[in-house]
Amino acid sequence: MTDPRADQLALNLSAQRERLAAACAAAGRSVSEVTLIAVTKTYPVADVLRLAKLGLTDIGENRDQEAAAKAAATAAAGATVRWHYVGQLQRNKCRSVVTYADMVQSVDSASLARTLAAAVDRHRTRPLDVLVQIGLDGNAGRGGAIEGAADPDREVRAVVDEIASHRSLRLRGVMAVAPLRWKPAAAFEKLADVAAWIRADHPDATLVSAGMSADLEEAVAAGATHVRLGSAILGNRLPPAVA
Ligand SMILES: *Cc1c(COP(=O)(O)O)cnc(C)c1O
Repeated sequence: MTDPRADQLALNLSAQRERLAAACAAAGRSVSEVTLIAVTKTYPVADVLRLAKLGLTDIGENRDQEAAAKAAATAAAGATVRWHYVGQLQRNKCRSVVTYADMVQSVDSASLARTLAAAVDRHRTRPLDVLVQIGLDGNAGRGGAIEGAADPDREVRAVVDEIASHRSLRLRGVMAVAPLRWKPAAAFEKLADVAAWIRADHPDATLVSAGMSADLEEAVAAGATHVRLGSAILGNRLPPAVA
């Protein structure tokens, strides 16, 4: 049986693996240091299963409703992948997310950390790996905890301390999206600085999730341990409908 979509994904994936290998070589790093995550948002679960078959088993999603359905369908199909939740997380979704996510990369407030920890305690049998999402440009209107935030709930240090105070959460590092109009290299260098001071207090917080389809090379050069590729592997997503 032919599956042109599987052939397309295989082609895209091997091109992106080569791209990642070249970026690692240029940065003097081993490709084994960087985990490639396919962000499958808006694409069907059939694509998750195709990617899993191709050996790509780290999957990113940014909406709970979509992710929960795909996680259930993936398990029902007998496939095992690691789910990375990378989107803005509403507190009333924590209960759902902790039942399928292997890592929540987008913890950006102390109150969210508290709610997540309580959900883990009630609805999950093992601790949850989390990253602090960093808002690199200090704009509180976007996602991310902020260094020196006016709102103490969104202060990076406060979020770090809150996570560290819960045995049900494991602080593994940081995540960021390069701000619009910033040079990605500058953004990811700043992220590396934040990662370093957090790691000084929390030695297990070694992960840096940075780099998307447009800026993988800059992220790898700045020390990313995880890159999150959507369109480069799956294809361009449709633009959101204008309301
Ligand atoms: C969609 C998304 C990605 C992937 O974006 P591409 O530009 O398609 O590679 C990565 N990270 C987050 C947080 C996302 O929401």
